[in-house]
Amino acid sequence: MNFMGEDLKLDRPLILATKNRGKVSEFQDLFRGFDFEIKSLNDFGPIPPVIEDGETFEDNSVKKAQFTAKVLGLPAIADDSGLTVKALGGKPGVLSARYAGEDATDEANNIKLLKAMKGIEQREAAFICVLAIAVPQGPALIYGGTCEGLITQEISGTQGFGYDPIFYYPPLNKTFAQMSGAEKNGVSHRGRAMAELKGELDKVLIWVRQRLAEEPF
Ligand code: IMP
Repeated sequence: MNFMGEDLKLDRPLILATKNRGKVSEFQDLFRGFDFEIKSLNDFGPIPPVIEDGETFEDNSVKKAQFTAKVLGLPAIADDSGLTVKALGGKPGVLSARYAGEDATDEANNIKLLKAMKGIEQREAAFICVLAIAVPQGPALIYGGTCEGLITQEISGTQGFGYDPIFYYPPLNKTFAQMSGAEKNGVSHRGRAMAELKGELDKVLIWVRQRLAEEPF
């Protein structure tokens, strides 16, 4: 197979099944240079929201990718990600976006987590990302990535989104919010999941093209 050749083309856009502008910009960086169009849910009119009620990152990411692919009739990629904190039994986990309540701001989530961790010495945490690629007919492929770090004592840094300002990554001696986008993508859970996906992109695109060519039942 020819890297950057025919095998890496798609005749229709790949939809990022998210409106989160932080995630959209990370995905766009990661797919830069490939010969297919990337769109996100921000490029379409309102479509019904997906209820993220899965018990695992994998359940939610497959659900988001399949729903978006079906509704738009286009191949879609979704990420479900979040932070798991050892001392909190894995919380906030799949509820990361809503830790401080429905529609919680990133700041409220960070403050709640720092409070929950007050006085706790064991500060190990991991970001987890599961990517799912689905076609309108239903099937999905899955890729995953993890990044281990420590919860800080206070907010540090202004870049990124979500829990970035309270997630310290020892090998670079920085929080995620103190890194440039490129630096973060090089080590992050999403960057690692994407690297795994990119390593198999030729096969993934063949899989997508074959599924798209199949007649619906
Ligand atoms: P999702 O949109 O359901 O996947 O929610 C993921 C939530 O996990 C986000 O709203 C953030 O709170 C958190 N999260 C996921 N990835 C990151 C990251 O790269 N940095 C900081 N927080 C993240």
